[in-house]
Amino acid sequence: MSLLITNISELVTNAPLEAVSVASPGPFEAIADAAIVLDAGRVAWTGIAAEAPAADEVVDAAGRAVLPGFVDSHAHLVFAGERGAEFAARMAGLPYSAGGIRSTVAATRAASDDELRSNLARLAGEMLAQGTTTFECKSGYGLTVADEARSVALAGEVTPEVTYLGAHVVPPEFSGDTARYVDLVCGEMLAACAPSAKWVDVFCEQGAFGADEARAVLAAGEAAGLQPRIHANQLGAGPGVQVAVEAGAAAADHCTFLSDADVDALAASGGTVATLLPGVEFSTRSPYPDARRLLRAGVTVAIASDCNPGSCFTSSMPLCVALAVREIRMTTAEAVWAATAGGAHALRRTDVGHLGVGARADLFMLDAPSHAYLAYRPGVPLIAGVWRSGERVA
Ligand SMILES: [Zn+2]
Repeated sequence: MSLLITNISELVTNAPLEAVSVASPGPFEAIADAAIVLDAGRVAWTGIAAEAPAADEVVDAAGRAVLPGFVDSHAHLVFAGERGAEFAARMAGLPYSAGGIRSTVAATRAASDDELRSNLARLAGEMLAQGTTTFECKSGYGLTVADEARSVALAGEVTPEVTYLGAHVVPPEFSGDTARYVDLVCGEMLAACAPSAKWVDVFCEQGAFGADEARAVLAAGEAAGLQPRIHANQLGAGPGVQVAVEAGAAAADHCTFLSDADVDALAASGGTVATLLPGVEFSTRSPYPDARRLLRAGVTVAIASDCNPGSCFTSSMPLCVALAVREIRMTTAEAVWAATAGGAHALRRTDVGHLGVGARADLFMLDAPSHAYLAYRPGVPLIAGVWRSGERVA
C-alpha cells in the first residue's frame, strides 16, 4: 500500500535532490512545492509535486511542511518519581549538582516494573506526538545489578537504542568507594545489562566519574559488545571530550565547557558527534554551549532533549530546536539538521534523520509552511501528523 503526500510547501530531506537511493543523511536539503511517496515502510520517491507518481492513497498536505522525524539521541526515561520541588528551589537560587540524581535513584528502586513501564510509555508517547520517531533511552537510575538490568530491559521495550548507564553517579551505599562501584559497573552489572543494550555511557564529571574511571567503563562495555558514548564537559571543563575521542565514541554529550584542544579533538575525530542539550541549560539557568565555535571548526553537531526528571524535564524536540536557534545561535536549518540527521549520526544510524529514497518512512507534518516555524513559533503545538515506518502513528 503506497502513500503519496502531496502539496507540501517545504519537504526537508537532508538528501541530494533526485538521488535514486540515499545511503545516509547528507547536508540540510529541502524541496519546495514537493511530494513524497512512502511504500513498504520506506521512502520510495521525493520531488516536485507536479511530477509525483500515482499511489494507492493520497494525503493533501495543503501547503504544510514535512520534515524527517526527530532523532533524539539522548534521553533518560526509565525512572520513577519527580523533582518539581528541586526545580523550584533551583529557580529560587540553589545551584544544580549531580547529587540530585540520587533522589530519583531511590524512587526508581522502590518502583514496580509496571510503574516504570507506564511512566516510560507516557514519555515515549509524548515524544512521538512531538515528532520524535527515534530516541535513545538510558538506564542509570537503578544502580544495582537487578535495577540496572530491569531498566535496560524496559527501555528495550520502547526503543532499539538502549544505553547502559550504570556509571551515572556513585550510589549512596558505595559512597567514598568509587573504585569498588566501578568494579561492579564493569563486572557483574555490565554482564547483566549488556545483552539488552547497544550502548555504554558514563557521566564523566566532577562529582561523578573521572577520566580513568570513564575509560575503564567504556573499555569494559566495548569488550562486552557495547558501543561507547559519554556525558562530557557539562558542569565544567574536564577530560570527558578527550576520553570520548580516544575511545572512538559515537558522541560526546553536553560539550558546554570546551577548551580549544577539545574542539580540535572533536573536529579531527572523524566520527564523534558533539551533542548539545540546550534544554538543560534552559532548565538549570546555566551558560549555553558555544555551537558556533563547534560548527566553525567543522564538528558534527546534534541536538537532543536529555529528557530526565532532574536537569531537564522536557521531551520536546521542537522546544530544543527553538532553543538551539534562539539561545545558541544556530540557524533554523542547522538546528533542524542537528535534531534529525545529527541525531542519526550520534546513534550511527543511516536509515533515519533524512528522507532520501530508501530511508525509513519516519516523518512529521508541520502545521506551518516551513521548518523555520519550529523556532519562529516556540511553544505552539505545530505537529500535525507523524508517520513511523510509513504508518500514521500520531
Ligand atoms: Zn544525560
